[in-house]
Amino acid sequence: MPPFYDPRMRGFRDRTAVAAVLALLDNRIAALPSESLPSIHAAGRVLAEPVVAPVAVPGFDRAAMDGYALRAADIADASPHTPISLPILGESLPGRPFTGTVGPGEAVRIMTGAPVPAGADAVLPVERTRPDGDRAQILESIAVGRNIGRRGEDITPGNIVLSPGRRLRPQDVGLLASLGVVSVPVVRRPRVDILITGDELLPAGSAPKGYRIVDSNSVMLAALVERDGGIPHIEPILPDRRELIREALLDSAADVILLCGGSSVGQEDHAPGVIAELGELAVHGIALRPASPTGVGFLESRPVFLLPGNPVSCLCAYDLFAGRTVRRFGGRSVELPYPTVSLPLRSKLTSATGRLDYVRVLVRDGLVEPLAVTGASMLSTTTVADGFVLMPVERDEISPGEIVDVHLYDGII
Ligand code: AMP
Ligand code: MG
Repeated sequence: MPPFYDPRMRGFRDRTAVAAVLALLDNRIAALPSESLPSIHAAGRVLAEPVVAPVAVPGFDRAAMDGYALRAADIADASPHTPISLPILGESLPGRPFTGTVGPGEAVRIMTGAPVPAGADAVLPVERTRPDGDRAQILESIAVGRNIGRRGEDITPGNIVLSPGRRLRPQDVGLLASLGVVSVPVVRRPRVDILITGDELLPAGSAPKGYRIVDSNSVMLAALVERDGGIPHIEPILPDRRELIREALLDSAADVILLCGGSSVGQEDHAPGVIAELGELAVHGIALRPASPTGVGFLESRPVFLLPGNPVSCLCAYDLFAGRTVRRFGGRSVELPYPTVSLPLRSKLTSATGRLDYVRVLVRDGLVEPLAVTGASMLSTTTVADGFVLMPVERDEISPGEIVDVHLYDGII
């Protein structure tokens, strides 16, 4: 590791490319180990191992209609003009099968979902019959096998029904229940400690007072972590004191630490130096706007993200780097969890080459309108915006009419 360059009151010497930071994370972060969870609580979780069907579904031949179980050959000549009358031996209901056998020229009354009795090879819907006391008048013929759901036609035992990496859908956990699979191995959710530093900050829930502002980032970060499948834990706000930041880092047993504020080049920005002292400061300063004063470090193998305190930078740095890590730890896709649309630009976008720009935009009448703001301190710009465009490093201008990808804040995928 190169010696720590302390950028306080000097500025960054150089800035790491976003792509290099992403590559570093993808290299060093893998899904956490799995844990076993009751299937009824597993919706939304990521499956860690394949689920093999232990049984057939359905487990028996069952009726798909209400009607009569019979032998198709017996009613081959039936028609409304030449009905065939069959004696009804009994009935088969869901969960209460008819235990006898249907012989030639016989029928059993049967309801949807009930076991098809031995001897029968078709179920004739009730609409094609006429009641006739303890007999049924059959008005139509039917093909062998009709209206019988065969054993195993839904699921064959031994088949893989759900594969690893699958984020379990509501219908998946329903399927697991139908198979009698009561618990499943899922990727553990990463625990994420949120450490906020800043002498000026009042805890969320207070009203701003004088020169003190209310910490908004912990609230936003906790919601982002939840969204990405992590378990957020917000620690009490830390003052800008090196020893206290150091202690808080040493105390954390989380899988990921988000240390927000004090990550830049100001006099009171202690976080980078502390990480360099306790572990590895792999990145400090990124070619990104906003959020250039972002850092990535490791305490042993646990990632620590130094997030800028400016709320827009904090959101941007979380989404690009920390969120990627939370998602990957939890077995999810690393991609940004925003729906993306490709639309033409209404007015031109400019940026310095060599830097990735996070541009807040509106989408109006199918066109993308960049908001005329660049500041990172105004969180309301992200509540007004519909989404953001990541302006590529190699571009310094994008012209009106060019198609850009907009990541929409609304709608979680
Ligand atoms: P810093 O990253 O500590 O240099 O802070 C940059 C700016 O973001 C300053 O104006 C801080 O007051 C502000 N800030 C820092 N932390 C927070 C926070 N948790 N919530 C809202 N604003 C913050
Ligand atoms: Mg600060």
